[in-house]
Amino acid sequence: MADEFDMPKGDLMAGKRGVVMGVANHQSIAWGIASQLAAQGAEMAFLHLPGMERRVQPLADSIGVKQVIPADVTDDASMTEAFGAVEKAFGTIDFFVHSVAFANKDEIKGSFVENTTREGFLRAMDISVFSFVDSARRSAALMPNGGSIICMTYLGAERAIPNYNTMGVAKAALESATRYAARDLGPKKIRVNAISAGAMRTLSLAGISGGRSMLAQGRSLSAMKEDTSMEGVAGCALWLLSDLGRSTTGEVVHVDAGFHMMGLGSEDEG
Ligand code: NAD
Repeated sequence: MADEFDMPKGDLMAGKRGVVMGVANHQSIAWGIASQLAAQGAEMAFLHLPGMERRVQPLADSIGVKQVIPADVTDDASMTEAFGAVEKAFGTIDFFVHSVAFANKDEIKGSFVENTTREGFLRAMDISVFSFVDSARRSAALMPNGGSIICMTYLGAERAIPNYNTMGVAKAALESATRYAARDLGPKKIRVNAISAGAMRTLSLAGISGGRSMLAQGRSLSAMKEDTSMEGVAGCALWLLSDLGRSTTGEVVHVDAGFHMMGLGSEDEG
């Protein structure tokens, strides 16, 4: 099933073991990244939201991932059990991919000021940001020989994007958490980076009111006039997670066909 992507094969990840958290289906960014890592020889465990087994297991089987472990990031006991299972299977790990986010539908539409509730704000921050800090700590404990950790962010962290609202604030916190974690874990030779991907057609995007417009404008306002590709995002992940990225840490790398750096669009771009 990884064959659906056009990703280079090789041995850049040979001998490396790690964890990918956030595969929900074949459109998930985590799945694209896992496919690329497998094509480069990585051994992986998948951590997934409990209840997603039916969709995740066949994907895992198709690239030889044997450890498929339920983990709810809002539940400490679930996370302790999941990382315990990873330690039992692998002993130590070399990389960790955080590709998890959530906000209530009502928080990601319309007026940011009017629609943001305490409960919804804290839930978005818990699942989308604290989970990263928590899993970075748990992963680092399994990285005595150094390693690499990445998370996924979006331009809504830096710019006010219609409807992205609470999720934009959460992504700003996630990018900051990336820098603080990179500072903390640097002396242990653990690198921490974020990939800021352009809009991509996934379950998460479908949950955002106006997601279709994010896709269309992401394409028309990008420098390259094209959608962000799974191959491009996965390629960046491969760079950061392999030894190719050995001196890069605390960075937010944009992979969005040049959408983030454009000023005004042309008149025909709307
Ligand atoms: P996705 O829906 O496939 O992935 C989100 C994942 O979060 C799912 O696997 C879901 O099960 C998991 N999740 C939610 N709540 C959880 C919980 N309590 N415990 C454990 N897992 C939980 O969508 P995606 O677009 O692949 O999103 C992955 C990451 O990429 C997210 O951080 C998202 O914000 C980010 N991102 C997405 C886009 C885009 O346009 N799709 C762009 C930039 C960044």
